[in-house]
Amino acid sequence: MPAGVSRLTIRRSEPIGVFPDVKYRFFRHSCQHCDNPPCVDVCPTGASYRDAASGIVDVDPSLCVGCQYCIADCPYQVRFIHPENKTADKCDFCRKTNLKQGKPPACVAVCPTKALTFGNLDDPDSDISRLLNQRATYRYKIALGTRPKMYRVPFKFGEVHQ
Ligand code: SF4
Ligand code: SF4
Repeated sequence: MPAGVSRLTIRRSEPIGVFPDVKYRFFRHSCQHCDNPPCVDVCPTGASYRDAASGIVDVDPSLCVGCQYCIADCPYQVRFIHPENKTADKCDFCRKTNLKQGKPPACVAVCPTKALTFGNLDDPDSDISRLLNQRATYRYKIALGTRPKMYRVPFKFGEVHQ
């Protein structure tokens, strides 16, 4: 991505505790790949779409007219206009690059603490399905009916504030 925009950011909380016993809460800010995505419903050209095979929500730049309706309608505020292409952009789980080559998304591959797990939610034997069976998780803004597919393990050292 060019400078000034990002498909993924990590938000860090204020310090929790007193030095030297300080902890931070980290929150991944990126597309939730909703199963009921408002960004797709609102797009007038079909540029914003949900890939039926993978369930990944993506953008076809060749159809995008840059109207920004999807940016306004995404409740997670993860979309932006690519400064060079002038089309809508966001995380696509590296669908056209890493996934196509059978590799995990770049964020999952490089995370030094293995905080991220990616996989097929429809496969009961996938790592992600097993993890979801073992851990308590929550999803962000589910009351909106978007059915996000990003599951989060709650922070252990305090309340979750969104
Ligand atoms: S998080 Fe936003 S951009 Fe991503 S699928 Fe949901 S509504 Fe669309
Ligand atoms: S900016 Fe592009 S993807 Fe978003 S609603 Fe407009 S045409 Fe669709």
